[in-house]
Parts: sequence; structure tokens; C-alpha cells
Amino acid sequence: MRKNIVAGNWKMNKTLQEGIELAKELNTVLATDKPKCDVVICTPFIHLASVTPIVDKAIIGVGAENCADKESGAYTGEVSAAMVASTGAQYVILGHSERRAYYHETPEILKEKVRLALANGLTPIFCIGEVKEERLENRQNEVVRAQIEGSLFDLTAEEFSKIVLAYEPVWAIGTGLTATPEQAQEMHAFIRSVLAGKWGKEVADNTSILYGGSCKPSNAKELFANPDVDGGLIGGASLKAADFKGIIDAFA
Ligand code: PEP
Repeated sequence: MRKNIVAGNWKMNKTLQEGIELAKELNTVLATDKPKCDVVICTPFIHLASVTPIVDKAIIGVGAENCADKESGAYTGEVSAAMVASTGAQYVILGHSERRAYYHETPEILKEKVRLALANGLTPIFCIGEVKEERLENRQNEVVRAQIEGSLFDLTAEEFSKIVLAYEPVWAIGTGLTATPEQAQEMHAFIRSVLAGKWGKEVADNTSILYGGSCKPSNAKELFANPDVDGGLIGGASLKAADFKGIIDAFA
């Protein structure tokens, strides 16, 4: 059965000391009041080796926000999937819209990143989602289908079953605009139909599909109540333990 997951994406926020404090705070809060879903925090690379040993693995998984599309070698400034895994991290966000837009990550590059993440035992949290113009032109389904096809369709069913998807309408990320529960459900059901068409119903039914985009304690419950929404990828609201916990509590 697919899992419910709430994953935080810290982005380029928090110094190492601030990140350690936040991780400790979350660990304490969730140890006392155990979450009813899987919880993941995705941190900047330099935090990973410090954060993984201080969180209880049984309660909080740790992930990176990116990894390189190359295995190793002369790629100054890059961090490989093997390096991420060597910190004890278990997850990696790939294909985030900010990486696609600002760092020109193409479907081909992302395909390589996914391959390397899987080869190193990491669970990719693979992000897909349309920009505002595409939604206004009612092209969101074809855009999202192309993103899945372009980076994931080479995977076998067994490989794909290790992936978590995050539907993040770009117009909702960090903007305060949230997809309505109906819009989220409609898209998640469409995504599941694409997965079923490619890998079969069982694989599709077992895939966790998270919603991301201005999710907060006040709207998480109605978003996660949808049958095809299996949790959230959380940006801004993952930076404060109380807000993140408020979203986790949507799974009561
Ligand atoms: C994100 O960037 O993954 C995200 C969902 O951000 P926010 O929650 O801040 O909209």
C-alpha cells in the first residue's frame, strides 16, 4: 500500500546551526507526539551529515534537495548521489520547478539524476507541475504527462515503484495561491491514470503522490483528504517546527 508522506523542502534557508536546531526541535516534538504519516526533511547538502545522526530514523527521514547528473569526477561544485547516500540520507528531491527554471534542468538531465539516485539506494521525490500560462491554457495534463514520460518512462515497474511523485503547480509555489482540493484531486487522479497506463494499476495504486504549493496547517487537511493526494511537499511552512507539525497533524 502507498504511504502518506509529509516532506519538507528547506531550499536555501537555514545556516548549519539553525538547521540542526530545527531538526532537533522536530525530533523532540515528533518523538512525544508520533506522526500518523512518514515524515521527511530535505535539507541543503551541507546539513545532511549533521542532521541525519540527530533525528530518529524511525520517525524522520532525511533527504537532499538535488544531486548531480554525473557519477563522480571533475564537476566542480557538484554533489553526487553516492555522496548524499553516504551521509545517511535516504531521499532526494529531483526536478523541482526551481531547478528546472533557474538551472535549466531538462528531462534528459533529470533522467540521469533519477537513475543515479536509484542506483545509490535513494528514494527520489520527483516533482512535476505546470506553470500559470499552461494552466490558463488548460494544458496542465499534457505538460505533466510529458514531464513523467520525459524522465521516468525508461524505468521498469520495479524501478518506478521506488519513486515518490510530487505534483507542484508552479503557480502555487511560494505564492500563497493553493490549488483547490478539487484541482489537486483531479490532477493526482490524472497522474495515477498515466502511471497505470505505463506500469499497471497495482504500481499506480502503490505510488505516493504528494501535493506541493503553499500548503499550510490551515489547508493541509482538506488537500490530504482527497483519495489520490497522499501528503505534501512543503516549502515555506517546513521552516518552523510548529507549522510543519501542524501539517503533519492533518493525518490524525
Ligand atoms: C516547494 O517549493 O516545494 C513548495 C511547495 O514551496 P511552498 O510550500 O513554499 O509553496
